[in-house]
Amino acid sequence: MKFSNDERRAGHQRMAEELAEWGRQWRLEADMIRCPYCHSVQFATQADRAFLHDPGCAASTLGEQYPWRSLAWILRSL
Ligand SMILES: [Zn+2]
Repeated sequence: MKFSNDERRAGHQRMAEELAEWGRQWRLEADMIRCPYCHSVQFATQADRAFLHDPGCAASTLGEQYPWRSLAWILRSL
């Protein structure tokens, strides 16, 4: 695929915004993603499973619960 510089800049800007949003919901630590609310973790080897929060975690109802897939999607243009 060929992109103009303007398209690439716009794509990277969108990627940066999505990454900032992702970072409000998740913490990447080595090969784990952590929920900053309940501190549960998911390893990269479990990326195809939904994230398991502690019971009652406020973040468990915040949309997307496949954080590895979300991260891969956000970085797709690289
Ligand atoms: Zn949680």
